[in-house]
Amino acid sequence: MKYYIWTIGCQMNKAESLDISDFLASMDMQRVSKAAEADIAVLNTCVVRQNAEDKVTGMLGYLKGIWAEHPEMKIAVTGCFVTDDLSALKRAYPHVSLFFQPGEIGRFQEWVLQEYVQQKRRVRKIVSPVSVYIPIIQGCNNFCSYCIVPYRRGRERSRRPEEILEQAEKLVMGGAREIILVGQNVNTYGKDLERSCSLANLLSRLSGIKGIERIRFLTNHPKDMSKDLIEAIAALPNVCHHACLPLQAGDDAILKAMNRNYTMADYLRLVDRIRSRIGDIALSTDIIVGFPGETDEQFRTTYRAIEEIQFTAVHVAAYSTRTGTAASREYKDNVEHGVKLQRLHSIEELQREILNVSNNKMIGADVEILVEGQKNGKWFGRTYSDKLVFFTADGDYMGKMVDVEVKTATAWALQGELTRVHCFNC
Ligand code: SF4
Repeated sequence: MKYYIWTIGCQMNKAESLDISDFLASMDMQRVSKAAEADIAVLNTCVVRQNAEDKVTGMLGYLKGIWAEHPEMKIAVTGCFVTDDLSALKRAYPHVSLFFQPGEIGRFQEWVLQEYVQQKRRVRKIVSPVSVYIPIIQGCNNFCSYCIVPYRRGRERSRRPEEILEQAEKLVMGGAREIILVGQNVNTYGKDLERSCSLANLLSRLSGIKGIERIRFLTNHPKDMSKDLIEAIAALPNVCHHACLPLQAGDDAILKAMNRNYTMADYLRLVDRIRSRIGDIALSTDIIVGFPGETDEQFRTTYRAIEEIQFTAVHVAAYSTRTGTAASREYKDNVEHGVKLQRLHSIEELQREILNVSNNKMIGADVEILVEGQKNGKWFGRTYSDKLVFFTADGDYMGKMVDVEVKTATAWALQGELTRVHCFNC
């Protein structure tokens, strides 16, 4: 049996696709890169932007053509495209055998077992990648004015800590060394549970699992970054000194129109609080340029904020109207496309300069990395603070913790020489 999986969108989708893939591989199914060769095709979808939704409908149309010639092929669809109105989806896409919502992988597994019941006894041990994503919370309560996620993924629903710990233990037994906890806003993890549990509590429990070398998490809404969480990051030895704090804009009027619920002054105070407790923390961020009404001066405020804070990564996107959001109803998308692109490129250029300087300062330093794989004949991994590092060496270093002396640097990666291999058991 062969399966094909197509994923677009956020880390949550990537995490769930990995789980789906692991499950199908555990049924002795083989992954293929062409949908036309598959017995099961899974689409893990995103509708955050209109062009993402267009890609999904395009893909569904493409699969319909294959299905018309091979009606024995089963198609399953998950991700934000799957709304609560399943009957409307089934009417619109009769060639799809199963729609299941994010977080409902159990339903998918039951369906696969029913469809391919003869495979039931062939389940084998799953081998995990070195670095794995674990979703801990689904949905979002924030209603940022430009974002469709709360409408599509619904309100926040946290997974029980016991379930997450059990999954982490299994993944570590399968070879995982780094756990990345993901959610639209991991900072509010556990608030909706009957027996409340915070992200700080969860990190402390995960941190004790033997074999987990590193724990990361994303995304952290700035308004919900608690003192307990900052303390946990500072105190727990295998929790990486890294937080993704989306700023989105540096101007207070734009932040208000975005419904972000913090001001620039709040954000700067938070950055100070985190950095004064964890001096070497890496802070990354997301920025939207060209939000409706954004003037040149307001954009420059954002630009200056990025210059001042010196993030280790900036993910920048040009605003585009998303039907169904508050911003699409209340504001006119009135910043010209060319202006949006100019602003986007100037932030990319600024960030490239910032990283060039900070990465060059690392030349000569020894950095500790967890080796995640090989690319173009070089081993690669990330530092504790999320810098990408390459080195060349004979031997198998997959999943190993090694020290590398940095020899050269660009804005996007460091290159170095292997100096030491850590021993996990000594
Ligand atoms: S925090 Fe805002 S941007 Fe993030 S998922 Fe929730 S509504 Fe969307």
